[in-house]
Amino acid sequence: MYKITVIPGDGIGEEVTQSVIQMVDSLNLPIEWEIVSAGLNTYNNTGELLPESALNSIETNKIVLKGPITTPIGYGFKSINVTLRTKYNLYANIRPVKNLGVIDSKYKNIDLVIFRENTEDLYAGIEEKISDNECHSLKIITKSATLKIAHEAFKYAQSMNKTKVTVVTKANIMKLTDGLFLNTVREVALDYPNIELEELLIDNMCMQLVLNPSRYQIILTSNLYGDILSDLCAGLIGGLGLVPSANIGKDIALFEAVHGSALDIAGANKANPTALALSAAMMLDYIGENLAAKKLKNALNEVLCYEDNFTYDLGGNLSTSDFTQKVIETI
Ligand code: NAD
Repeated sequence: MYKITVIPGDGIGEEVTQSVIQMVDSLNLPIEWEIVSAGLNTYNNTGELLPESALNSIETNKIVLKGPITTPIGYGFKSINVTLRTKYNLYANIRPVKNLGVIDSKYKNIDLVIFRENTEDLYAGIEEKISDNECHSLKIITKSATLKIAHEAFKYAQSMNKTKVTVVTKANIMKLTDGLFLNTVREVALDYPNIELEELLIDNMCMQLVLNPSRYQIILTSNLYGDILSDLCAGLIGGLGLVPSANIGKDIALFEAVHGSALDIAGANKANPTALALSAAMMLDYIGENLAAKKLKNALNEVLCYEDNFTYDLGGNLSTSDFTQKVIETI
């Protein structure tokens, strides 16, 4: 029996987690869900953002399926998402981006995976107000964290018979921090002589991805660039409702969609649960339920082969709950 912690989150979080739990339950696996709360709704109800009960559940079960959590923009509390990633040292953020079904895209052969360092960089949020006129933010890059994400990316490339890893930095300008990232990746690449290391600057990478994304197999980058490139790549295949992610550490793994709480459509039964469902498939692969993972991925792909099954974000009319039923019938 697997016991999995679920944090539904807020915004569209409740809707998409409920949908995905139904999809996974229809696979008849020995899974028990432990639902705990964290984030803005929890704070409004209890005064706590990340209650002890949620942390205990994560530390006991070690596998988490998580919906999006809203972070106030430009003020307020530190992101719960970032807090969880750093607290449990979930150093590898893995984000596969692949065309699905008949979803309209200018490109038909996108099949890449972003490996994003997940614990440091400007994302550490270490900021200082010097005066009303000046604020500073500290960019942290360590060799130890870079080694971990780089090995993760190259090992994955090797296991999937990929031939190239593309490292993305701005080491021409941030010669020390991005320079350390790049030099560490170059060092790791020497251990994998069959895999080509390609080096691109982040600005050029953005243009190349828009022009010819199918050139890329594995993108290896630091935290902030990885965050931005993920949304760019999501746009290439049809939107944020489609891209999953895994946050992997030594002991704990947390699976969530790339998208946020989408407050503009929250509660409207319009959200596309595909991204979280694909994250659940990554979770099933992680716990060794590979056949179930494959069934879920195939069902999603098949459902998305018909435009009548598209949710609002893809230009369709199907509700979250009806989409969920279609996937369950297809499984
Ligand atoms: P967002 O991803 O929530 O939404 C961007 C756009 O994409 C919106 O128009 C939204 O409607 C659409 N969209 C996103 N997911 C969708 C889905 N599954 N189905 C249909 N449409 C979808 O990004 P944002 O508006 O920049 O952020 C909103 C909040 O989410 C912020 O507070 C942000 O901090 C938070 N956030 C959380 C996470 C996380 O929990 N891991 C990730 C990103 C953003």
